[in-house]
Amino acid sequence: MQKTLQIPMVNLQRFHASIENDLLSTIQKVILSGKYVKSDNVREFEEQLSAIVDEANVISCGNGTDALQLAFMALNLQPGDEVITTPFTFISTVEVIALLKLKPVLVDIDPTNFNIDPKEIEKAISSKTKAIVPVHVFGQSAPMHRIMEIAKNHNLFVIEDACQALGTIANTPDEEYKAAGTIGHIGCTSFFPSKNLGALGDGGACFTRDKELAKKIRSLANHGMKRPYDHHLIGINSRLDPIQAEILKIKLAYFTNQIERKNEIANYYDDQLSSCDYINIPKRESYSTHSFHQYTLTVKDGKRDKLREYLKDNGIASGVYYPTPLHLQPGYQFMGYQQGDFPHAEWASQNVLSIPMDPWLTQEEQHYITNKIRAFNN
Ligand SMILES: *Cc1c(COP(=O)(O)O)cnc(C)c1O
Repeated sequence: MQKTLQIPMVNLQRFHASIENDLLSTIQKVILSGKYVKSDNVREFEEQLSAIVDEANVISCGNGTDALQLAFMALNLQPGDEVITTPFTFISTVEVIALLKLKPVLVDIDPTNFNIDPKEIEKAISSKTKAIVPVHVFGQSAPMHRIMEIAKNHNLFVIEDACQALGTIANTPDEEYKAAGTIGHIGCTSFFPSKNLGALGDGGACFTRDKELAKKIRSLANHGMKRPYDHHLIGINSRLDPIQAEILKIKLAYFTNQIERKNEIANYYDDQLSSCDYINIPKRESYSTHSFHQYTLTVKDGKRDKLREYLKDNGIASGVYYPTPLHLQPGYQFMGYQQGDFPHAEWASQNVLSIPMDPWLTQEEQHYITNKIRAFNN
């Protein structure tokens, strides 16, 4: 009998152990530098990151949630303005909309790729709509070529939640492929440890091609300061700290390779699992590359939780993102939605299952995972 392996969703320790000396020496360097907030190495990291997002302006901040908040603040959205987004995402997306007293207007997803459905966006636009927030769920871009067209026709801002899609490239209305997060007016990303580029703690960034907006975001993230103690805007305190910036600089050197590696693993999974009749493999869209923040299956006939249990018994972690769509979250009943309002998002919550995906999965582990899934006696 084959031995049971223990496979987590993302084996970060494996990566970190392999670069341990570099991590330790860089942390030591920051300790000895005497500069623990706002040092030059934060700007250095931003410039290096800019190279992988087509030279867009990069403004780092405390986390991905703050990046979203800063985007809304920078675009000067006012209480009561309507923002169209998806119910099938992490809470941050509507959390900041609610905190800023904007009105979240949810629309259903395309169930084949889990991203916001552009046809539904068009139906939800009113005279109060000011912005659309597509979320590039699991690392594949929403159809930005269509969303940017809609935004242009209705004079709306687009804020991309690219927290799961750093490294993804997507088509634009001009038939030009650009980095996800740099196609809308502002893009937001997260350096939460398990994200495509993860810190050893929290971190995030905004992207924009507009220099003036970039300046404003930078000021907003630093108490609305123009010069020291000269506050032109009401801002927040949200900065990437130099230790995380240095750690991210080290990890950035591996980034492109890791996205390629994840794609190779995803291709192997596709290959091994496409003939499994009780699951659907993730759909790949021609308008976007995939950075595989998650490799997400849909499990047919209500067998998702059984498969999950079986994988657990075999030492294989799996994850349900997201078990409850945002319109059904107890803290968000003020939005006035109910069960049945977004059937595709509700269906996805019941049937999706993400399996281990990281660039460090060995061939043995990949075989083990796919063999077990194929042998599931449902
Ligand atoms: C991770 C994530 C966020 C929040 O990022 P944090 O850095 O944890 O604040 C927001 N939106 C999506 C889609 C995410 O995956």
